[in-house]
Amino acid sequence: MEKNTLRELYLEELRDIYDAENQLIKALPKMAEAATSEDLRSGFEQHLEQTREHARRIERIFSNLGEKPTGKKCKAMQGLVAEGKEMIDDEDIEGEVKDAGLISSAQRVEHYEIAAYGTVRTYASILGEEDAASLLEQTLTEEKETDEKLSELAEGINAEASEAESGTTADRRVSNRNAKAARP
Ligand code: FE
Ligand code: FE
Repeated sequence: MEKNTLRELYLEELRDIYDAENQLIKALPKMAEAATSEDLRSGFEQHLEQTREHARRIERIFSNLGEKPTGKKCKAMQGLVAEGKEMIDDEDIEGEVKDAGLISSAQRVEHYEIAAYGTVRTYASILGEEDAASLLEQTLTEEKETDEKLSELAEGINAEASEAESGTTADRRVSNRNAKAARP
């Protein structure tokens, strides 16, 4: 197929975001597990379900075109996930501060997805792919809602994080370690 067309660019970008969604399906359970706040944890779990649907929507778009969505690595998402993992793995950061850091990572991801879906939704419209455009619009809306929800959660969590003092953090680290050790 001719490479220098908007249609090919559209398909390449869809393959890119398909890979990005699949990377997130693997990363979100770890984000949820690292969260202290119950609301944040359940927010990540809910978005995992949505993310699975986002991947399925792209599969549907490709199957309607008789093509496959595979074959591309999203390097940007690899970087965003790697930074999220640094936050998860940093043992010196915990509690509300860890939650604030997880939100920061997650919002970078959502903003990346919002940019990507805004673009492919527009390409789909220009190319006359109305069904695909509406599926991509649904995903775009969910990414924006997730970003807003994270901002709302951040309001309370950032305030709590700003009250966390280094002394109490050390105490909490000991009690966290004990709690982990006590886990069967
Ligand atoms: Fe998504
Ligand atoms: Fe998302």
